[in-house]
Amino acid sequence: MEKKNKYTDKQIEQALTYVEIFTKKEEIDCGGCGYATCREFASAMLDGKARPSQCVVLSKKIIEKLKKKEKELRESLFLNQEILDAVPAPILYEDIDGKAIGCNRAYEEVSGVKRLDIKGKKLEQYSNNKDYDALNETVNASLLKTRTRRIVETVIKDPQGRMMNIELHKGIFTDRSGEPAGFVSVIFDITSRIETRKQIETARNTAELSVSLLKKNPTAFVIADGGLKIVDCNQAFAELMGSEINEIYTTSGGLKGADLRTMFESCELFTSVMQNEDGTLSKDVENKGKKLKITLFSIDKNKAAGAILSDLTLPSVRNAEVKERAAQVIKENLETVQKIAYLLGENASKTENVLSSVIKLFSEDE
Ligand code: SF4
Repeated sequence: MEKKNKYTDKQIEQALTYVEIFTKKEEIDCGGCGYATCREFASAMLDGKARPSQCVVLSKKIIEKLKKKEKELRESLFLNQEILDAVPAPILYEDIDGKAIGCNRAYEEVSGVKRLDIKGKKLEQYSNNKDYDALNETVNASLLKTRTRRIVETVIKDPQGRMMNIELHKGIFTDRSGEPAGFVSVIFDITSRIETRKQIETARNTAELSVSLLKKNPTAFVIADGGLKIVDCNQAFAELMGSEINEIYTTSGGLKGADLRTMFESCELFTSVMQNEDGTLSKDVENKGKKLKITLFSIDKNKAAGAILSDLTLPSVRNAEVKERAAQVIKENLETVQKIAYLLGENASKTENVLSSVIKLFSEDE
């Protein structure tokens, strides 16, 4: 009499799925598990006498999968390192104790050490910059407390001994459970930025000083932008533009942003002079019945121009202007006279040479 199966086909097939056998074709009955058939093995598993790991086919499959995963992981790590090496900013990653896990090529270059030589070492073991080491320790400690990113500026020496201003960006990375697992540092060379910042600071101070000197100057000055809005001017300019404008200047503390067109009739001179990088122009103009001398200069092409103005109706200005213009005329006339005298002198000399040669010819004929 045939022995009745303890388990239904459905139960057996379900148990077979534990060893990744899903179809009849996959039941190869190799006997590697110590049972004659896969179904006997499934029945033993249901009895609690066998475990899935006893199936040699499944074990092989798992090993192959693990090998594949390992290969993928290696390739991924290689790719990650390649990506990090492609980043131009130096990057260092340390474990939670501050020991180096790895770095990129830019970090090797800036620190003068190889990644293999720093692995497992704390910064103080391979760097000779005590201040930077101490700063790194402090930042690490604060990151563990705050768990936020920190940016600090400091100075380091590159392998050639040059001082570098750097911006250290440091953050924490976590493990799967979200607990801090280490630190990532990215270093930015900000030496040229610091230099530019200093230059801008000096330029700003100089500009502020110049403007404050100009403001105290009794000569009227104004600076206008490309849209003919006033960037800056002094009270002498406001006075020259009339009592109403002068009052606005006094009450508002200046005319910044005011439309130059509303107070100065020859605004097109500003537009014209700022069309050239280093354009200048000097002209007599009339504004609200006043005769003015204006000297314009381009500050920034199509963006800003400045002007100095003087009231030619004032006796002191008029006398000085007359003197200056007379001197200019005399100078120009003198140059013309000098040129004429030179030409005359040259002609005389030429004539003398011609006459000498004629005389010489006549003497030879005689
Ligand atoms: S080792 Fe796996 S495939 Fe081979 S007979 Fe046992 S259960 Fe079936």
